[in-house]
Amino acid sequence: MSDIIKLLPDAVANQIAAGEVIQRPASAVKELLENSIDAGADNISLVIKDAGKALIQVIDNGFGMSETDARLSFERHATSKIKSADDLFNLSTKGFRGEALASVAAIAQVELKTKVEGNDLGTQIIIEGSEVKEQEVCSCAKGTSFSIKNLFYNVPARRNFLKSNPVEVKHIIEEFQRVAMVHADIAFSMYNNGNEVFNLKKGSFRQRIVGVFGERYNQKLVPVEESTDIVSVIGFVSKPEFAKKTRGEQYFFVNDRFIKNSYLNHAINNAFDQLLSKDQHPSYFLKLTIDPAKIDINIHPTKTEIKFEDERAIYAIIRTSVKQALGKNNITPTLDFEQESSFNVPLMRSTEHIKAPTIKVNPSYNPFATKSSESSSSKPESTKNWESLYSSFETETTQLTSDFENEEVEPLEDQQVISTSWEDEEHDEQQTLIQLHNKFILGQLKSGSLIIDQERAHTRILFEQYIKNFALGKGTTQQLLYPETIDFTTADAELLNELQQEIKTLGFDFEKMGKSSFVVSGVPAELKEQNVKQIIEGLLEQFKLNESELKLKKHENLAISMARSASVRSGKKMSYEEMKALVDQLFACEMPYSLPNGKPTIITLNLDDLNQQFDY
Ligand code: ADP
Ligand code: MG
Repeated sequence: MSDIIKLLPDAVANQIAAGEVIQRPASAVKELLENSIDAGADNISLVIKDAGKALIQVIDNGFGMSETDARLSFERHATSKIKSADDLFNLSTKGFRGEALASVAAIAQVELKTKVEGNDLGTQIIIEGSEVKEQEVCSCAKGTSFSIKNLFYNVPARRNFLKSNPVEVKHIIEEFQRVAMVHADIAFSMYNNGNEVFNLKKGSFRQRIVGVFGERYNQKLVPVEESTDIVSVIGFVSKPEFAKKTRGEQYFFVNDRFIKNSYLNHAINNAFDQLLSKDQHPSYFLKLTIDPAKIDINIHPTKTEIKFEDERAIYAIIRTSVKQALGKNNITPTLDFEQESSFNVPLMRSTEHIKAPTIKVNPSYNPFATKSSESSSSKPESTKNWESLYSSFETETTQLTSDFENEEVEPLEDQQVISTSWEDEEHDEQQTLIQLHNKFILGQLKSGSLIIDQERAHTRILFEQYIKNFALGKGTTQQLLYPETIDFTTADAELLNELQQEIKTLGFDFEKMGKSSFVVSGVPAELKEQNVKQIIEGLLEQFKLNESELKLKKHENLAISMARSASVRSGKKMSYEEMKALVDQLFACEMPYSLPNGKPTIITLNLDDLNQQFDY
């Protein structure tokens, strides 16, 4: 039998390769956008027509290409980004395989225009089915413009395989979002059939997320930040109340590259733990930065899957940092993190022979930060790291228990335990004040305990004070160092004008300036550094609501509206002094136990009842 093996012509080899790299218009979009980023552009536009089937054009202001490079860029394995296999472990660019342009050129009609800085003229190349049709000098702007026309024109089977236009556009938008989101320092725009879909200015990561997903995302995001030797994590998770029934926006970026990873996704779900029900999914936008030597991006042509050397440690770090972020924002529902330790530690003292507690004692303790980077350079070592995580917890906790025995416990950092002698009957009962969930204050009485709702308590205190102001005809004003000019809606400006006299009695000092602006030069003394605009707007809002629904008297309405607007909110962490002042002031009120609408401010837990509950 004669020899039958033949080398495939380049055009055919490229077409086959294209099958892996370019599956649909969205894949070509991704490759072009990534090339523009690698070219150092800070302004990138994407234009598509007919869902990318007729045209995909990407225009950038990056460093462009010389005439020779322009021609070479379409060759397979032609890349400026790596020189040797070693470079694969030190990648700082998106591309490196040198096959995207070769692939695209094999299955479409491609027009390239490019010019490097300082040259008068650029290069234009037209290439179709891997065949160069035209190459000439052209006049164009600095940077590069690629137009991909009639994708899959010569591979009918693939063209027929494409989905409907809305589906393909959706894929393109997804790809665009993934790239744009993580490069907030680059301006991006996108046009579909001549209509602007995105116009994203440079800004912060948060601004970019909001730019991509809409203004309402601003209030949904909880910042996450953690830096360790293995990985640094920065970004946002959604507050649990905004969780979605479908897998919402879930974005992991590793070294600015979007990746999919179900294991790490699990770490986040785990951090949300009891905050979400089974059918709810958190949104997240997390950027991981990691030594490129410790990841392998080259396991799939589209580079959306990567291998981590320290996967388990990264899992733990992500889980901890998300959990901590949720905890800091007071969204953990149970006694967890700060609350967990502050609650359990003092109680532990009474149990003499108890074993070392297994709870975490220091919420800001970071088991990963202290590990040297070389100790995590190989898999077995990193597993050791992982195990040492537990052993260091153990040392910490053992240490703590022995401290207790010596009766020399300093209140732990970041905790809200005030009394070091929780069950000491002799001490001043006011000393024991613990903030729970940044919402309630737990205090001890001889006859039991009381729980105070901090927001309601403060509302009651302020309400009585404002009623007093009206009776005296005057409140105490604190002059602002810098008077603030505030613009209101026309309706609010009208109302403010109408209530001017009364609002001044509350302690505000302001003058009308222009149609709907006011200059505020003084605020009620107890407001301190709060946002004046927000408070006045809140006051007017409440006033309007009460007026229509409760028909309150003007003074009463203003007093309660202002109290509501200015009171400390649930969710605010309070120092011991603040809690003590609040409790003292509450008990100095005429009617400390409820709000004017009858809602309780305090509930008490009678000691006898408690004993009964525990079956004593
Ligand atoms: P890779 O990105 O993996 O290197 P590509 O086929 O995507 O491979 O691109 C080949 C080469 O063409 C790149 O390495 C780069 O030098 C050049 N190139 C591609 N797009 C651009 C661009 N927008 N601006 C400047 N150079 C580009
Ligand atoms: Mg590329």
